[in-house]
Amino acid sequence: MTATQTGPQIDPPTDPAMFYDIAIVGGGMVGATLACALAGSGLKILLLEARAPVSFSADQPHDLRVSALSPASQTLLQNIGVWPGVVQRRLCPYRRMRVWETRGRGDTCFDSADIDQPVLGHIVENRILQLALWQRIEQCDNIRIHCPGVISDIDYQAGGSVLRCEDGSRFECRLLVGADGGQSRVRQQAGIGVHSWSYPQQALVASVRTAYPQQDITWQRFVASGPQAFLPLSGSCGSVVWYHTPAEVNRLGGLADEQFLAELEASFPRELGRIDALLGRASFPLRSQYALQYVKPGVALVGDAAHMIHPLAGQGVNIGLLDAAQLAQDVTRAFAAGENWAGLEVLRRYQATRQQHNAVMMASMDLLCRGFSNEVAPLKLLRNLGLGLAQRLTPLRNAGMKFAMGLSGHLPELAQRQDRSL
Ligand SMILES: Cc1cc2nc3c(=O)[nH]c(=O)nc-3n(C[C@H](O)[C@H](O)[C@H](O)COP(=O)(O)OP(=O)(O)OC[C@H]3O[C@@H](n4cnc5c(N)ncnc54)[C@H](O)[C@@H]3O)c2cc1C
Repeated sequence: MTATQTGPQIDPPTDPAMFYDIAIVGGGMVGATLACALAGSGLKILLLEARAPVSFSADQPHDLRVSALSPASQTLLQNIGVWPGVVQRRLCPYRRMRVWETRGRGDTCFDSADIDQPVLGHIVENRILQLALWQRIEQCDNIRIHCPGVISDIDYQAGGSVLRCEDGSRFECRLLVGADGGQSRVRQQAGIGVHSWSYPQQALVASVRTAYPQQDITWQRFVASGPQAFLPLSGSCGSVVWYHTPAEVNRLGGLADEQFLAELEASFPRELGRIDALLGRASFPLRSQYALQYVKPGVALVGDAAHMIHPLAGQGVNIGLLDAAQLAQDVTRAFAAGENWAGLEVLRRYQATRQQHNAVMMASMDLLCRGFSNEVAPLKLLRNLGLGLAQRLTPLRNAGMKFAMGLSGHLPELAQRQDRSL
């Protein structure tokens, strides 16, 4: 059964079996989270994804694409029944984060114990989160995954859109959601523009096996050429992120494994320890981008389709998951109240909440990135003072920690506490 509500009159579907209340394009971490958060909504959901995630086995090496998931994301994933699927597979908690500069006195350490929290977050491979989400979706009668479903055409209409896939399938929906990443087709077809800018650095990500088992600490060091970061993975593995100029990232990417490891050990701080093996490496361009609107009648954007931020503090997917939780909450409530749940009035509630939150996060990351990538003397002094102050001023340090962990500011209810249904 599909949901009928007040709102604009739309033509009856040509094939009711192919009609969905909500079609989500993109079954990555954010789109699949939105589907799971809509499980109890009473709405009929379609999730369209071009590529299925490869199944997991514990003997596989760690993937290169990993994310630092905040406690707010963890709570959300617990509340939608997904977290056990992550824990069952593989993850690494971290309790401390150290940040310092090579040519200054600024050095600060964030510790979850200081704010009575068990962890600062968990490092999770993106594919593992996606697999856990898809596993949960399989248990939901109201959600169908169409995969591989590569979109060939989107006819966006305010009152209901039509989607066609390369395999010839055709779907209609009342609300179209773009969870299809930074290059979002949905966003383009809905005529929503973006503002974007790139950075003079790229990120080189390498996964490595270290000579010692991982502890519970991540670190980030700022050097003149760009930040260097380390994220612990399970066992003796870790993920290294090396920000550098595109030319240097290109050169490093082309080196033989032994040469690359030698340069890594020479350039990174002694905290990295001895590396026994390089398990993989890849580079990523860095861009920030935001959609000028998150919604129009009958369409909404979530995750990277709505915003891309600098990955320095690992917040991109965390804010995307909160978009998913907020949109699910607003749509579910409006549907239950008999409102036009796919209409602009309801969708604007989602936009008003998330756009503001994401803009603050985006501006903070941009400031952090520019502030630490600049060798102008007054800026160096300021950031040394900032790191020093953060170490000495406990309230300042704790407030920064809570903000990054998603424990302050407005949160959708699903991300606030456990066992709470919409
Ligand atoms: C180097 C690096 C490190 C990062 N580290 C972190 C971190 O530690 N913490 C963090 O929070 N964030 C991090 N991020 C950001 C994070 O990876 C992104 O914010 C996140 O992947 C966005 O998820 P998404 O589901 O919105 O989009 P995506 O991951 O881009 O997923 C989009 C999905 O849509 C599908 N799709 C696209 N087009 C179509 C189509 N036409 N038809 C069907 N399907 C389609 C794609 O196949 C894909 O599965 C990092 C980013 C980078 C580059």
